[in-house]
Amino acid sequence: MHPERQLCIIHSQLYINMKPLQELVRPNIWALKPYSCARDEFKGMKADVFLDANENPYPNGVNRYPDPLQEQLKQLISPMKGVPVGNIFLGNGSDEAIDLPFRIFCRPGKDNVVAIDPTYGMYEVCADVNDVEYRKVPLTADFDMDPDALLAACDDNTKIIFICSPNNPTGNAFQREKIEQVIKTFQGIVIVDEAYSDFSTQRPFRMDIAQYPNLIVLATFSKAWAAAGIRLGMAFASEDIIGLYNKVKYPYNVNVLTQAKAMEILGNATLLQRHISMILEERDALLKAMAFLPICKKVFATDANFFLARVTDANGIYKYLVQRGIIVRNRSRVNLCGDCLRITIGTKDENTKLLAALRQYV
Ligand code: PMP
Repeated sequence: MHPERQLCIIHSQLYINMKPLQELVRPNIWALKPYSCARDEFKGMKADVFLDANENPYPNGVNRYPDPLQEQLKQLISPMKGVPVGNIFLGNGSDEAIDLPFRIFCRPGKDNVVAIDPTYGMYEVCADVNDVEYRKVPLTADFDMDPDALLAACDDNTKIIFICSPNNPTGNAFQREKIEQVIKTFQGIVIVDEAYSDFSTQRPFRMDIAQYPNLIVLATFSKAWAAAGIRLGMAFASEDIIGLYNKVKYPYNVNVLTQAKAMEILGNATLLQRHISMILEERDALLKAMAFLPICKKVFATDANFFLARVTDANGIYKYLVQRGIIVRNRSRVNLCGDCLRITIGTKDENTKLLAALRQYV
């Protein structure tokens, strides 16, 4: 055991079983001197003449570089998410928030990450891009996760465990205690992707980052916030981990238009709640109706804005729906998801069209 390693100190609810951060971070990243952009160097003072960044001085709404750390936007996100500004990273979709931990923690060709399977495909793609071994731990036949199996798949070079809850493509959220067991036991970083947590009744893990220094929680504007087009993802973690994200990210990673649109969207929390309740209401209705269709063998319970249905012939039904202009996701080639379609909850009108088409399938 490393002499500096602190063993499961449970002190005022703070769980520290992780290796020292410096031991987890790639040495080149720990030593990295980040790029210092013009707007990083100038801070705090009031100024109205900006001749520091070689911009075009003629205003059109986008002639200036964006705030590299998105302070104003984080000030609005912080109370909404219940997370202090210093514990928030904002990136170009969750994609950036998923990719950066590979670049921060994983030595290409040496380290590995562990993830539940099946799950969101970008974790494996980012592992492959970064030349990092990706270890898959199968869910049970009813899509539950086994924390002991996840931990058993780790070795001394495992830097990250990925848990997506509610999980994509299965739709289910995992029991808190199972996720907690992994976070408390694993000595590396645990990433819990909560892209769909607004549709779930479970308490989100982002509330617990002060308790778990090895936890990174992901969230996105692409789902409940109805803003997939602006590409804005979030990571919530300790200030030390957020510091590493900021060190490695592109200097101006969230553009001016995205920051402005996100602030506008955050001003309308009533619409967010209305969307969520309409989607949940439609989810109930669609799941019930699907279960009665002759083509439907099983509808899996869901905590997200989509669900998985096992059907009589996923490939045939998928092609039939495409011909009718209705696109769902054919997941039948995914592990444990034989003959399964993944269906996003649409508007009442869209769901009605889907059901009508499926009733006519022979
Ligand atoms: N996480 C999960 C689990 C997802 O299913 C998706 C979208 N399919 C994302 C993240 C993507 O989020 P973003 O649009 O912020 O990149």
